[in-house]
Amino acid sequence: MCGIVGYIGHRNAYPVVIKGLKRLEYRGYDSAGVALLNGGLKVHKKKGKVADLEEATLGKNLDGNVGIGHTRWATHGEPSDRNSHPHVSNNGELAMIHNGIIENYASIKQELINNGYQFHSDTDTEVLLNFIEDIKINNQCTLEEALRIALRRIVGAYCILLIDQNDPETIIAARKGSPLVIGIGKGEHFLASDASPIIEYTKEVVYVNDYEIAIVKADELILKNLGNEKQTPFITKLDMELAHIEKGGYDHFMLKEIFEQPQTIYDCLRGRLLPEHDEIVMRGIDNHIDSFLKASRIVMVGCGTSWHAALIAEYIFEELCRIPVEVEYASEFRYRNPVINEGDVIIAISQSGETADTLVALESAKEKGAFIFGVVNAVGSSIARLSHAGAYTHAGPEIGVASTKAFTGQLAALTMMALKIGYKKGTLNQERYTQLVRELYAVPEKVKEILTDTSHIKKIAEKYASASDFLFLGRGYNFPVALEGALKLKEISYIHAEGYPAAEMKHGPIALVEETLPVVFVATHDSYYEKIVSNVQEIKARKGKVIAVATEGDQQISHMADDVMFVPACDEIIAPLLSVIPLQLLSYYAGVAKELDVDKPRNLAKSVTVE
Ligand code: GLU
Repeated sequence: MCGIVGYIGHRNAYPVVIKGLKRLEYRGYDSAGVALLNGGLKVHKKKGKVADLEEATLGKNLDGNVGIGHTRWATHGEPSDRNSHPHVSNNGELAMIHNGIIENYASIKQELINNGYQFHSDTDTEVLLNFIEDIKINNQCTLEEALRIALRRIVGAYCILLIDQNDPETIIAARKGSPLVIGIGKGEHFLASDASPIIEYTKEVVYVNDYEIAIVKADELILKNLGNEKQTPFITKLDMELAHIEKGGYDHFMLKEIFEQPQTIYDCLRGRLLPEHDEIVMRGIDNHIDSFLKASRIVMVGCGTSWHAALIAEYIFEELCRIPVEVEYASEFRYRNPVINEGDVIIAISQSGETADTLVALESAKEKGAFIFGVVNAVGSSIARLSHAGAYTHAGPEIGVASTKAFTGQLAALTMMALKIGYKKGTLNQERYTQLVRELYAVPEKVKEILTDTSHIKKIAEKYASASDFLFLGRGYNFPVALEGALKLKEISYIHAEGYPAAEMKHGPIALVEETLPVVFVATHDSYYEKIVSNVQEIKARKGKVIAVATEGDQQISHMADDVMFVPACDEIIAPLLSVIPLQLLSYYAGVAKELDVDKPRNLAKSVTVE
C-alpha cells in the first residue's frame, strides 16, 4: 500500500503533488517524498507524514512543471529518510516511485552489485530502478525500452512513475497489480493511485491496466503493452464528488475496509504463499524456524479482535503443528505473573502495534527469555520493533475503529505460519499441506464472491436492528468467529451481544431464548456440522429467531433458519476467513440502520495506547 501522485503540465507541480499525497495518506504514511524536474532533478524526502515533508521543504526551490510524489507504506526496509521514495539511480539521472513489492529483487540486486552498482536504501524499489538504468546503458536503448525489458524480468507487483532528467517533458508509468489512474486535463495530466488527487482538476480519467506502460506528456498520453503495441486509452468520466472519494466512494471507512478485503488478504499472501511451488516464504519464520520447532508451547497474546484471531490460530496451530497453545488477554497476562520459560514462543497480535497492554506484556516476557514474534499491521510500530521477528499483515491503514480487514489479515498471516511450521515439523503431511496452501490462495476470490451482493445482509440487519440482545454461537474454528460477530455488533450498533461455543448454550444462555431473541449460528459445513444443526433445532424449539451463516447450497440450514447468509465452500481451517465477512456486514448495516457513527463508535479509539 502506498500513495502515488504525478503531475505534468503548465502548473507548478509541487503543490499539486503535495495536495494529492495528503488525499492518499490513508494508503500509507510512514514517509513521503517528491522529485521535481526543473533544469535537473530535485528530490526531497522525509520519514513521517506528508506534513513533515512540507516542513522539511520550507524555503527550498520547489519550481518545476513535472513532479512525482510518494507516501510510503514500507515493505522492504524500515521507514526512514533513506528508504523513502523517490529513489535516484546510480548515475543520478533517473528518479522513481513505486507501489508494490519486487519479489525477485534479491537476485537482481546481487547481479547489479557484481556489475559495480551501489545501493543507498534497503528497498526493492531502488533495485528495480538501477536494473532499468543498467539495461538502458548496456543496450543503449531508450528509457521506455529499458523499462519494458526490466518489467519482463521482474516478479511481483508494481505501480511505478519514472522520470529522466534528460527528458523533462515526460513521465513514464507502468502497472501490474497496483492501481494507477491518469487524469486528463487541458495541456496537463495527473497521475495517482486513486482518483482522489485528480477529481478537483478533471473528471476525465483513464484507468491503466496491468502490463501497460503509459508515456505521459503535458498534451499527449500514449498507452502501450509490454510488447510495444499501442493500446487505445479508454476515457471514463468520474461519477463522484470530492467528499466521497476520501472514503474511496464508500459511505464509511468501515464499509470500504470490509470491501477491501479481497485485496488486503491477497496483499498479505502475496510474495509469501506461492501455490505454483507449494511453498510458503516468510522470512520471520524461515530465519527462526528452530525457535518454533523446539518450542514446548506457544503463548498468543492480544486484545479485542486480535484476541479472537489468536483463538482461531490456537485451534489451527494445535491441529497442524501439534504444539500446545495458550491464548491470553494481554492485560491479564501482564499482571498475573505468568510462568514463562526460556524458549517459550510468544506470538503478539496487534493491528496498530502500539497496544499498550500487549507491549508491556511482551517486554516482561522478553526479559524472561521468551522468543517474541509479532503479527502486526502497522509497519515500524513499537511491537514490531520490540519483537525478535515477525510477519506484517499488510492490510494497509485501517481507519474505521472497528477492525475488519486487519482481522482477516491476522488470520491469513497466522494460517500461513501454522502451515509453514507444521510442514517443517512434519506434523502436516504433504498432501494436506498442498491442499491447504491452495485453499488459502483461493480465499480472496471467495471473499469477493461474498461481497458481490450484500443487499440481503442489509435487509437482515434492518429486520433485527431494534433487538436489544443477540446471541452468537459457533463450534470449533467458528466458535471464535461467533465471539468476533458479537463484539462487532456491540461496537457498531450498541446492541448487547454474547458469543458462546454452541454447546455451552445449554449451560446457561438458553434461558434467554424467546421469540424476540435473534441467535446467529456460524454453521458452515465442517466436522461439527451435525452437532450445530441439533443446536439450531434446540433454539427453534424454543421459538428463538435463527440467523445462520451457512455454506452455499446448504438446504438443511436454509429450511430451519429464519434468515441465511451464505459463504462459499472451503476447508474448515480456512472457514473463519469467510464466515466472519457476513458478520462484519451485519453489524455495519445494523449500525447504519440505527443511524450511528459506525466509523467512530462511542467511547472507542483505534489504537489503544493506554492501559
Ligand atoms: N516495496 C517498496 C518499499 O518498501 C514500496 C512500498 C510501498 O508500496 O509503499 O519501499
